[in-house]
Amino acid sequence: MSLETQLVVVGAGPGGYVAAFKAADLGMRVTLVDAAVNPGGVCLYRGCIPSKALLHVAKVLNESKAAANWGISFSAPTIDIDKLRSWKDEVIGKMTGGLGQLVKTRKIDYIQGHGTFLGNNELRIKSDGDGGKDLRFEHAILATGSVPATIPTFDIGSDRILDSTSALELSEVPETMLVVGGGYIGLELGSAYAALGTRVSVVEMTDGLIPPADRDLIKPLARRLDREFEQIMLKTKVLAVRDKHNFLQVELQGADSTFNGDYHKVLVAVGRQPNSARIGLDQTSVQLDQKGFVQVDAQRRTAAPSIFAIGDIAGEPMLAHKAFYEASVAVEAIAGHDVAYEPNAIPAVVFTDPEIAWCGLTEKEAAEQQRDVEVARFPWAASGRATTLGSNDGLTKLVVDPKTERVLGMGIVGSGAGELIAEGVLAVEMAALASDVKLSIHPHPTLAETVMEAAEVFFGESAHLYAPKRK
Ligand code: NAD
Repeated sequence: MSLETQLVVVGAGPGGYVAAFKAADLGMRVTLVDAAVNPGGVCLYRGCIPSKALLHVAKVLNESKAAANWGISFSAPTIDIDKLRSWKDEVIGKMTGGLGQLVKTRKIDYIQGHGTFLGNNELRIKSDGDGGKDLRFEHAILATGSVPATIPTFDIGSDRILDSTSALELSEVPETMLVVGGGYIGLELGSAYAALGTRVSVVEMTDGLIPPADRDLIKPLARRLDREFEQIMLKTKVLAVRDKHNFLQVELQGADSTFNGDYHKVLVAVGRQPNSARIGLDQTSVQLDQKGFVQVDAQRRTAAPSIFAIGDIAGEPMLAHKAFYEASVAVEAIAGHDVAYEPNAIPAVVFTDPEIAWCGLTEKEAAEQQRDVEVARFPWAASGRATTLGSNDGLTKLVVDPKTERVLGMGIVGSGAGELIAEGVLAVEMAALASDVKLSIHPHPTLAETVMEAAEVFFGESAHLYAPKRK
């Protein structure tokens, strides 16, 4: 069977479904292809949304424990893992089902199946038990995302070895777990399992958790995780894993010795890789880089003029909100609008407790670029709202250009950092000066005030924190 469409979007994750919706809203005839019954991709089915559901549960569990400090004691929780899993699946079902409805309302042709390119204007879509449909298209947007990176050491065929997908299935709460990789996934899922009762250890090959983040943001999180996790092993690598039936024996190489650890499960979270293989890109003019990312220009157009690529497959950072944004750029470029992808501040949020968030220029990047910056820090020890929340170990900081006084970046660690960072994104994108932030009245008592106070610290004018006046 042969079909035709104006725009085919391959992959219905955050990049793909937003692209399809925007294109339909601009009046294009759109076909959206994905293996799942409804749109959602990794983010909704086995990433952002289910992990945030579990992290919410972790927060409730941790806060109920912390309440003992304020005179409120709860008895130890009983965890009904089946009910918890059903609730998480319900959250996923609600969101993906809603997107399915939006596909219908927008009259998008949704084809459930696997797409393989046959050329720069043709895609074959195969579903279970059918011979396939060939679809001719004027334009295609490639949004097939990424998959967990694998390391041969863990390829021993044991169901005790998990990746983010299987960890989020929540089949059980294991007694012990080794998390390999102290990045986003390792720390988020490690925290969720630790709150549910698993004794979690982390092994990270570099000398610190979440390598891209500034170290002062990591400190309060590391202190908390030192208490909640069994062990955090930095500068350590996994040499071998042996399946001992009831547990896995892991051989580890630390800075100066080799040692063994026994764990009921091992979660491998060492990054993700673009999903660019086995989709027929070799039949097109699309070019990949050495890591397998699709090479794109500022409008997200590939070397094949009819094919665009967005989201994880189009390069770092592999974040859903970057994919949302690229979806708009690609669709508008196809519609002939004068657009370009040139963000100054893509926010990064690690949804641990405390949360860590940053955007724009980090102090670490400024040092690498030998760029002169001034950093204004407002510690949450001086925030009234943070004190009422028992969250005094937080920090808000602004990275400012000392000459122009322009806000170049912002970093936060503390409760709700993921929400608060949006103000930094706006400040950086609008080229706000530190004085703009300082002169904007922020509501009291809130954590958002700490952003204004950090700007006041820059000028040496914070009421709640004494800092020398800026010359
Ligand atoms: P990551 O890049 O955040 O962290 C991987 C960590 O593993 C790094 O710290 C790295 O040094 C370490 N590592 C690599 N190889 C190792 C080895 N052999 N032994 C020990 N440590 C090793 O990757 P991730 O946590 O797998 O997440 C993948 C991507 O998914 C992230 O980059 C992010 O883009 C996305 N993600 C985002 C969020 C969020 O926005 N909150 C949450 C989860 C995932």
